[in-house]
Amino acid sequence: MASHKTVKDYIRTIADFPHEGIMFRDVTTLFADPRGLRIAVDQLLHPYAGRPIDCVVGLEARGFILGGAVAHQLGIGFVPIRKKGKLPGPVISEAYTLEYGEAVVEVHDDAIDPGARVLVVDDLLATGGTAEAGIKLVERLGGEVVGCAFVIDLPELGGRGKLEAMGMDVHALCA
Ligand code: 5GP
Repeated sequence: MASHKTVKDYIRTIADFPHEGIMFRDVTTLFADPRGLRIAVDQLLHPYAGRPIDCVVGLEARGFILGGAVAHQLGIGFVPIRKKGKLPGPVISEAYTLEYGEAVVEVHDDAIDPGARVLVVDDLLATGGTAEAGIKLVERLGGEVVGCAFVIDLPELGGRGKLEAMGMDVHALCA
């Protein structure tokens, strides 16, 4: 009989990781399941199939796994946005605030052609700070973000509102 499990059913929540009081959504169980991974990738790219998109940008680190699969399925290339100091070539950088302190993400300065239509992919949208920094990097290189796709949106943390206020199309599979 066909499984009726949804994407959300494959994700487990781990209490007190990485800090006490945090309920961490663990997508490794989704990625490890053949059907879970397939339906997550299919549903992520569904609104964008058949639309003109030039590349997928994935946010480190789980956005690489999902974004690579989405890019393969759409028949387009993949560009990583990485944490500071990981990319070997010339980069541009964008800082953003975390709960405690600041983080910096980077992209190769020749990774996105001016005018390229870009789909941004990550596993989870919380405050939206990471995605916002990624979008800014794409836009600084002249790319146009046509959508931001996430497996999980935590609506109480306001990320969707932040990205929509930037004019972004936000697609999420579950809350
Ligand atoms: P934001 O910048 O929107 O506050 O946080 C989203 C980023 O943090 C994403 O790159 C995401 O991978 C990571 N993240 C934050 N909380 C969780 C969580 O509970 N589970 C997972 N899998 N990633 C998280």
